[in-house]
Amino acid sequence: MYSNNRNKPRVSSNRNSRPKERPSQNAKKVSKLDPSLLVKKAESSGEAGFRTETPFHTLKLHTALLKNLENKGYESMTSIQEQTISPLLEGRDLLGISNTGSGKTAAFLIPIIEQAMKNPKVFSALVVTPTRELALQIEEEFKSLSKGMNLHSATFIGGTNINTDFKALEKKLHLVVGTPGRLLDLSNRKLLHLNKIETLVLDEFDRMLDMGFVHDVKKLVNSMVRRNQTMLFSATLEAGQKDLIDSILQDPVEVKVSSGGTASQNVDQEIIRVREGEEKFSLLTQLFEDQQMDRVIIFTETKRLADRLSKKLNHSGIKSGLIHGNKSQNFRNRMIEEFKKGETRVLVATDVAARGIDIADVSHVINYQLPMTMDSYIHRIGRTGRAGKTGRAITFVN
Ligand code: AMP
Repeated sequence: MYSNNRNKPRVSSNRNSRPKERPSQNAKKVSKLDPSLLVKKAESSGEAGFRTETPFHTLKLHTALLKNLENKGYESMTSIQEQTISPLLEGRDLLGISNTGSGKTAAFLIPIIEQAMKNPKVFSALVVTPTRELALQIEEEFKSLSKGMNLHSATFIGGTNINTDFKALEKKLHLVVGTPGRLLDLSNRKLLHLNKIETLVLDEFDRMLDMGFVHDVKKLVNSMVRRNQTMLFSATLEAGQKDLIDSILQDPVEVKVSSGGTASQNVDQEIIRVREGEEKFSLLTQLFEDQQMDRVIIFTETKRLADRLSKKLNHSGIKSGLIHGNKSQNFRNRMIEEFKKGETRVLVATDVAARGIDIADVSHVINYQLPMTMDSYIHRIGRTGRAGKTGRAITFVN
């Protein structure tokens, strides 16, 4: 697309053009990534690969739930839903290895809603996620799937006023979603009774471990003495995690939707080499002449650069929002909302945003700097090319 115009940034878009990686000046910040691995054509399977032919009514779900699925436009199951919902309805544990965007949220929420409807006075489930944004999204999905069914939910995450949580806990909750720290805090205060919750979902388990939540997760799991069903989802499965996973799950059904660790097949991956003396920012703004770049997430390595970049984009007439770890939860929520509604064209983010945010139709992910690890790269580019659509990822390489 760009190669015919000499003034446009040079985008490498086939596997044979293998640029050499130049060592970084800053020894602490040497990315381990080989840029040649970041050039790949999408092997889009399209909607057909994402969804199966199996309609939800084959599952004999509650009619209100079926209606809600229909209203959401979920006509047939995705591959992970087809493989997991039945065994989960039977009460089996689950180990789900799946990339983001596979439909895993509904895969675990549908059985939870079914069980809650069977025993609404007693049943409750806990979903633990690594990030606040993901927790909020899961509750949002639960609310729309259980609309009109008289089920109650709450999200407990850091960075918010804990008094609001106390209030929410006065009511019988069928679903509790949260991040490990806040959940433990509420449990330690004897306000959240983990010993009464029977169903546990650990979402983005590998992320949780990466983010240093291993002890918190163990404490949560051990406090759930009445736990009789556990579902664990992870994008990757590393040998070092095996013992821990084995200690959490009992005879789980194992479902692998796409091979853990590989970058999304639905994403066209390209690099732009920034030559000495070239201004990266002007290369970036040139990209925005392409009107197809209508919903773009730009990742930076540092919060400071994210701040600066967002400001510069706004000055040059490209409306951008910003999220990173120093911003309050309210501010982050507002930025995501504006981006979702299309009020901003760009969301500048640090890795905080790479984990589990589900924003429909992100057209492009841009790595303004080379990510430090392949894992971080995979999670970032997974923000585009979701729900069977083709996305594009562009990475700037010095
Ligand atoms: P998730 O992997 O749970 O983040 O889901 C990825 C996207 O797929 C979300 O935007 C969901 O709303 C959507 N989705 C989930 N299940 C279905 C389905 N059966 N049919 C169509 N879209 C779905």
